[in-house]
Amino acid sequence: MTVAEPTRAHATTTAGIEASGLTVSYGSHEVLHDVSLAIEPGELTVLIGPNGSGKSTLLRTLARLVKPVAGGVRFGGVDLNAIGARELARRLAYLPQAPEGPPDLTVDELVWRGRYPNRGLFASAHAEDREAVDRAIEQAGVAELRHRALATLSGGEHQRAWIAMSLAREPEMLLLDEPTTFLDIGHQAELLKLLAELNQERGITVVMVLHDVTQASHYARRVIALRDGRVMHDGDPREVVTAEHIAELFDTAVSVLADPETGAPVIVPRVSFAPHEEA
Ligand code: ADP
Ligand code: MG
Repeated sequence: MTVAEPTRAHATTTAGIEASGLTVSYGSHEVLHDVSLAIEPGELTVLIGPNGSGKSTLLRTLARLVKPVAGGVRFGGVDLNAIGARELARRLAYLPQAPEGPPDLTVDELVWRGRYPNRGLFASAHAEDREAVDRAIEQAGVAELRHRALATLSGGEHQRAWIAMSLAREPEMLLLDEPTTFLDIGHQAELLKLLAELNQERGITVVMVLHDVTQASHYARRVIALRDGRVMHDGDPREVVTAEHIAELFDTAVSVLADPETGAPVIVPRVSFAPHEEA
């Protein structure tokens, strides 16, 4: 994936999102308890936490896919419920953990679908729509896959096709749930670099769930740690990602080192066996 030099001025608008007192239940099972947080426009924030801590639920609630039983969300300063569906789809792109599309859809068709909220289902495509689609395809590094059906793609290719789909609507905010899951480390680094560049150069607000806490520390200026549906820590990675916090969050012993180049925290799990011990 490469980030193309911006060839023309794109309208750069950005928005923050604010959750206040969010309580979310599935049936009688309450999974988020009174969560409040404010993401400023142009921030890049990573959510971390153990399985089942409510990260995906929080992201889905911010995307208005789950209705809270108490509390609310404001996007760009406006109550989320007051925003029309198409406007919200255009301004806020949410990418689930394992997106699925029709298997015979081509990458090109998928990315054009991403552009629907900007132009309407029945409107003919304008030059700016074509440009946005081409740019998204270029940025996500899927130009060579344009005419391939989704069913024929590898996990990493599939993920990049969906990133292109999200970028096609030129959103103000990206909400991404574990976007690096199916990628090898090279493609993980490229994808995170792309997101960091979109954030820095276009001001797109990014909130993503990452499994890898070391990666989170490297790319985010703010890390929010969830456990049992509550925000346990929120702030600079160097303050949030300490051995004590991580051990407590994930119920496992870790050491935290400082990256020799950047000083960012690096997690080293402390395993209780010695695989290389000599007999
Ligand atoms: P995370 O993304 O941190 O792993 P989730 O938000 O997916 O956590 O899940 C939080 C809790 O909510 C878990 O206990 C999970 O089993 C439960 N949960 C998630 N989605 C649903 C659902 N659609 N119906 C019922 N329970 C759910
Ligand atoms: Mg999840």
